[in-house]
Amino acid sequence: MADLFDVIVIGGGPGGYVAAIRCAQLGLSTACIDEQKDSEGNPSLGGTCLNVGCIPSKALLDSSEQYHRLQHQFGAHGISADNVSIDVSKMQARKHEIVKNLTSGIGVLFKANQITAIHGFGRLMADKHVAVLDPETGKLKQTISARNIILAPGSIPVELPGIPFDDEFVVDSTGALAFDKVPQRLGVIGAGVIGLELGSVWSRLGSKVVLLEAMDKFLATVDHQISREAARQFKKQGLDIRLGAMVKKVTSSPNGLEISYEQKRKQHKLEVDRVVVAVGRKPATDGLLAADCGVGTDARGFIEVDERCLTSEDGIWAIGDAVRGPMLAHKSSEEGVAVAERIAGGVGHVDFNTVPWVIYTSPEIAWVGKTENECKEAGIPIKTGSFPFAATGRAKAMEDTVGMVKMVAHAETDRRSA
Ligand code: FAD
Ligand code: NAD
Repeated sequence: MADLFDVIVIGGGPGGYVAAIRCAQLGLSTACIDEQKDSEGNPSLGGTCLNVGCIPSKALLDSSEQYHRLQHQFGAHGISADNVSIDVSKMQARKHEIVKNLTSGIGVLFKANQITAIHGFGRLMADKHVAVLDPETGKLKQTISARNIILAPGSIPVELPGIPFDDEFVVDSTGALAFDKVPQRLGVIGAGVIGLELGSVWSRLGSKVVLLEAMDKFLATVDHQISREAARQFKKQGLDIRLGAMVKKVTSSPNGLEISYEQKRKQHKLEVDRVVVAVGRKPATDGLLAADCGVGTDARGFIEVDERCLTSEDGIWAIGDAVRGPMLAHKSSEEGVAVAERIAGGVGHVDFNTVPWVIYTSPEIAWVGKTENECKEAGIPIKTGSFPFAATGRAKAMEDTVGMVKMVAHAETDRRSA
C-alpha cells in the first residue's frame, strides 16, 4: 500500500515549501516532493526563487550596484578609490553562498517540522495518488497518497520559436545569472522585469546592453508617470531600450551573434556577444497531471482553480506561478498559507489588491494597489499626489535623489485606490 499522508505538496518553491511548513505547523502529516538540483547536482529546495530567481538576482543586483556607486557616486562624498575592479568569479561565489545558505535552511526547517522531503518528479495520478519519478530517467521510485494534495510546480522561462536556448550564448534568466565574465555587448529580448533587472546588473558591470521590447509602450502595467520617469533614468544609465522591436532571428556572425529585428517596418541588425531571452514565464505543468487524475489546465498550461485555489477535484489544490495571478514569490507563499489553513479547517484568503510589486532596478519601482491609469479605466474617481526625492532631505543626504513617491487615493473617501 502507498504511504498515506494528510498532505502531499508537489514543488518546493516559495509556494510549496511555505504551504508544507504551515500544514505541518497545523498538525498535518506532510510530504513535499521537489525535483530541483543545485549547480553541483544535489537536491536543492526553495524552487526558482531561491535557486535561480529572486535571491541570486538580488545578490548580483546588490554587488553590481555597490560597484557602480563606488565608480560614479562616491566622488560626491569626497571618497575616491584607484584601480576599482570587479572580480566576477568572487561575485558569483558570494551569490552561490547566499543561495546555498538559504536553500539548505529550508531543509533544516523541514526537519524541524517533521516534513518528509522527497527528491523526485511528482505526477498526480487518479484517486489522490502521486507517483514519484526519477527526474533523470523517468523511472518510478515510489507511489504515495494523501487526503489533500497541493500542486505548486511553479514556472519556467518561455523560449522563442526559432531561438532555442543553448545555455552559453543564447540564455534564459538562469544563464544570465551565471555569466563568468562581463559580456562586452549584451542583447536582451524583452524589457520586462527580468530584462531590466539582469540588464541593469551587466550594464553596471560594463556591458553595453540593448533591450529589444516587442510592445510600443514601456512597462505597460506600471503607472504611466512612473514608467516614463523610469525610462528616462534607465536611458541616462546607459540602457538602450528599443520599443516596438520584433525579433526575427538570432544567428552566429564572425564577431559573435547577430540579432535581426523589425522596428517601425524597417529591418535592423544588432551584433552582440550574448543574448538573454526574457519574454515571460509559463507554468511548469508538463507531465505533472496524469490523464485520469481529474485536474486540467487551460490552453496556456495554467492549472484551473477557483478563488480558494481549489481545482475541479475535491482535496486537490494548486498555488503559485502555475495558477492565475501575478508570478511573485510572496503571492505563491500567501496562497500556500491560505490553502494550508483551509485544509486544517480554518479560513484562508488572499487579497490580490494588496500584493506588492517591486522591480529592483535603480531606482527601484515599487507599487501596491491600482495605478492611476487602472483607476481611470475602471471609472474610479481619484486624486493623485507626487513628491520628488530631489526635494527630500534624507534623499539629498544619501546623494540618491532620483525618483518620486506617488499616492493615488479615492477622490471622495481618501482611501487607497485598490
Ligand atoms: P517555483 O519557485 O518555480 O517552485 C516550483 C518548484 O517545483 C521548483 O523547485 C521546481 O523544480 C519544482 N517542480 C516543478 N514541477 C515539479 C514536479 N512535477 N515534481 C517535483 N517538483 C517539481 N518574485 C518576487 O516576488 N520577487 C523577486 O524579486 C523575484 N525575482 C525573480 C528573479 C528571477 C530571475 C526569476 C526567474 C523569478 C523571480 N521572481 C521574483 C519570481 C519568483 O521566483 C516566482 O514567482 C516564485 O518562485 C514562484 O514560486 P512557486 O513556488 O510557485 O514556484
Ligand atoms: P515580463 O512579463 O515581466 O516581461 C516580458 C517582456 O517581454 C514584456 O515586456 C513583453 O512585452 C516582452 N516580450 C514578449 N515577447 C517578446 C518578443 N517576442 N520580443 C520582444 N519582447 C517580447 O516577464 P519576465 O521579465 O520574463 O519575468 C517573468 C515573471 O517573473 C514576471 O512576470 C514576474 O512576475 C517574475 N519576476 C518578478 C521579479 C520581481 O518581483 N522583482 C523579478 C523577476 C521576475
